[in-house]
Amino acid sequence: MQPDQGYSSSASPHTGSRRGNSEYLDSASDNTGRTYSIERRPHPGERETIVSASTYAPPDYNCPFCRIARSDFSGRVIGGAEADVLRTPDVTAFVGSHWWPRNEGSVIVIPNAHFESIFDLPAEAAAQIHRVAQRVAVAMSHVYRCDGISTRQHNGPGGGQEVWHYHLHVLPRWRNDRLYERTPERYRAPPDERAHRAALLREHLDSNRA
Ligand SMILES: [Zn+2]
Repeated sequence: MQPDQGYSSSASPHTGSRRGNSEYLDSASDNTGRTYSIERRPHPGERETIVSASTYAPPDYNCPFCRIARSDFSGRVIGGAEADVLRTPDVTAFVGSHWWPRNEGSVIVIPNAHFESIFDLPAEAAAQIHRVAQRVAVAMSHVYRCDGISTRQHNGPGGGQEVWHYHLHVLPRWRNDRLYERTPERYRAPPDERAHRAALLREHLDSNRA
């Protein structure tokens, strides 16, 4: 596989689009009046085109997922280290603060570096996120004994994104759980139940290291 040479995987500021090494050849406006750029990055033997959307996060955005990634649970960040499921140098997985009525104990997987959405997520980070999501899914299927697993991921306000830091939901599924109809019924997970689920998943992952 050709390495993705256009991005650094190091942490980057969470405001503004990252244009340091990029050559922007074109720009346009979408139907909201926002502008975006068409970025073409040279790869040996190919030419890849991606759309780099401008950020939806406000300029002074105090990113809650950046704070979770660095274990800063002060202020308005919901919960604490007791919700941790798995941490690697590049990725953090934790039991989410809000659950769906039939899908309790769902997990959120984030890159430790700030990337707002799928539009600016480097392929290397995506691979690391999915590797962790896969491990979480296997642990979840053993620990929860669910009927299946779904992942969900949202980008932009029209896509239902609420936190402006890329995140992948890993959800336990049950037959006829109507997950996709029940988003309005999401509720704040009881802290002790959230911590309990995280402890169960951590225990399984610790005893089944990849
Ligand atoms: Zn962030």
